[in-house]
This record gives sequence, structure tokens and C-alpha cells, in this order.
Amino acid sequence: MEFIHEELERLRQASLYRNCRVIESSQGARVSIDGREYLLLCSNNYLGLAGHPALRQAAADAALAFGAGSGASRLVSGSMTLHTALEEKLALFKGTEAALLFNSGYAANSGIIPALAGRGDTVFSDRLNHASIVDGTLLSRASHLRYPHCDTVALRRLLEKQGGSGRKIIVTDAVFSMDGDMAPLQEIVALKKEFGAVLIIDDAHGTGVLGAGGKGTAEYLGVMKDIDVYMGTLGKGIGSYGAYVAGSRELADYLRNSARSFIFSTSLPPAVLAPSMAAIDIIDSAEGLELRQMLARNRVLFLSLLHAAGFDTMGSVTQIIPILTGDAALTMEFSQRLFSAGVFVQGIRPPTVPAGKCRLRCTVMASHTEDDLADAAGKIAAIGRELGVI
Ligand SMILES: *Cc1c(COP(=O)(O)O)cnc(C)c1O
Repeated sequence: MEFIHEELERLRQASLYRNCRVIESSQGARVSIDGREYLLLCSNNYLGLAGHPALRQAAADAALAFGAGSGASRLVSGSMTLHTALEEKLALFKGTEAALLFNSGYAANSGIIPALAGRGDTVFSDRLNHASIVDGTLLSRASHLRYPHCDTVALRRLLEKQGGSGRKIIVTDAVFSMDGDMAPLQEIVALKKEFGAVLIIDDAHGTGVLGAGGKGTAEYLGVMKDIDVYMGTLGKGIGSYGAYVAGSRELADYLRNSARSFIFSTSLPPAVLAPSMAAIDIIDSAEGLELRQMLARNRVLFLSLLHAAGFDTMGSVTQIIPILTGDAALTMEFSQRLFSAGVFVQGIRPPTVPAGKCRLRCTVMASHTEDDLADAAGKIAAIGRELGVI
């Protein structure tokens, strides 16, 4: 297997080699790595719920009451009451007839898209969509038409060109995971209606976070009722793990019968299901509103500090705030120097983002203090100047 060694060498030479840091503490605004404390500025635990006492307690209680594992796929050995209870809660929360759980966002996208599209159909996909959408589309064997990022004029042109009899599926991230901008959902909804297409949105980063009720990007943009297939995840803003699709009862029924990642995979365990339920209760309460307000305050503060320093934040309008750095080696040097200064921010490189568009992907959390963010922004500006980024 000499090729493995060669491939690893190639990645190292190109500054594209990746490794995982090891966190010794729970997931909070600060984490412990190698016995030292770091400000965590790259987690998707936006509301801080991953470490919330109510979620910890729910996980512990569920494990004691129902055990560690679910034992099999739900179609093989049955749903546990926690699966159906969480699905009912999600449907109620999203205002849909039904919801169906998936084991992760990756599993959801790689199951949903092939269930809804096949040979002879066309998937219209934003060029910056998440890798799991790309992989789901490749698995589906449908024609794969990628339109320039958020470009609804180009999307319209593609829809016009693709007459034919097959199904048309439009799929987009609602919040783009590496850019922090939002899909123009109002325009996309108008197009899907005009062309009779099905609209799938992936709200991994909006769920729990955006909209007055935390119901997601579609709530924020006023198009909740116009989304055919509303996918979201439970491991980011929700603070637990897993994913769901919210939509009509027939959609949930159909996916239960056809999505291979639902059918052929052991279902989520109790200690993961119960904290998701606790999180939705919090998100739906005054505490959730307060957490969203703190997150919004932190986002505005941090963005303004970065702008004042002269950074390009790539059109971010959410808690995901990229700093454009460009080159891979420079990006990793930036990230490494920040780490030495006590700030953990991940550098993002190809294939996650296009070559030449490397960035530091900063994410703010409700649990950061104003001092945390001011201190981090000061260090980022100082290192950015040293490295000639600003
Ligand atoms: C994180 C992410 C996923 C994958 O979700 P997991 O639950 O982490 O597997 C899917 N889509 C988008 C846009 C994401 O950011």
C-alpha cells in the first residue's frame, strides 16, 4: 500500500494534510487541549446547548431508563417510544404534518436525494452545497446541474433548458456552512412553483438559531409553508446528534420506505434522542429566545470588530463568520499562531472550499462573552497584520 504513503506525502506538501485536535473537556466556550485552556471559536454548538444541564440530565435519564443502544434499524426491530416522541415534537415545532429522523445530516442527504430523484430526473444544486448533498445526488444517478452560488438567474436558465418529463428537484443549503450567507429562499420558492419543481432545503445551521421561534432559515425568510422537504440537523444548534426531515405525512411515509440510509442503518440511541427533545423545549421557551438574542449580539459585535480591522468576511450574515485568507499554507500558519495565542479557529481548505478561497471559519456562540470576542478579534487582527492578510 505504498500509494497511501505517497498520497499522505502529497497532502502534506500541499498544506492539505488534516489532523484532529483532542478536546479533554466538555464542549463549551472554552475547551481544554493538552492541559491548556483555549477559547473555542469553531464549534457549531451555537447556543451552547451541548453542555446544557438539561440536555446532560436527559441523556443520563434516557440511558438509565432505556439502555445504551437501539439494537437495530427501526424497520427491523421497531421504533422506540423516544423516536416517535421526538418526531412528533419536531413536526409540531416545524408546523408540518410529520417528521422523520435520520442518523446524521450526512445520512439524511445521502438517503433523501436518491429516494426523490433517479435516472431521468434532474437535481439543481447550488455550487457551494454541502458535500453530503453532492454525494446524495451522485448516488441518485439523476442529472446533476450545479448553478453558481445563490444565482437565481442562472437557476432559472437551467430550469428553462431542462424541459423533459423527469422530476425536477432543487436542493440548497439554507445557510451555507463555510460562507455564513443565506440562500435566496423567496426567489427559489417562486421558481420551484413556476417550474413545478420539488424544493429540498438543508438547514443544518439555521435550526434552533434563526427566526423568531428558532424554527430556522425559512422562518426567518417567511417561507416556512413553501418548503417541500425541510431537512435539518440535531448536532449543531440543537446540541445533540442526528437529523430530521419535516414535511407531509406522505413524504415521511415514503422516505421510511425508500431512503436507504434510514432503512439499512441502526437507529439513534436513547441518550441521543432525549437531549434533542430537551433542546427543542429550551429553544421553544423564553430561555431559547434569550440564547438567540445573545448569539445575535455576539455575531454583530464580532463581525464589526473584524470589519474594523479590515478583514473580508465573505458576505456572512449569520453566526458563521469566515475570514478570507486565500492560500492553504498561509491559512494553516494563521490558525497555528492563533492556537499558540489561545484561540482555536480551524483553517478551511480544499476540498471543503475551492482552491484559493481558503479561510478561517469562525463561529460565534451564545456562550461567548463580549470580552472573549474582543480578545479574540484583537489577536486575529495582530496576527493578520503580521501575515499580511490585512
Ligand atoms: C454539518 C452539515 C451536514 C451534516 O450533518 P451531520 O449531522 O454533521 O452529519 C449536512 N449539511 C450541512 C449544510 C452541514 O453543514
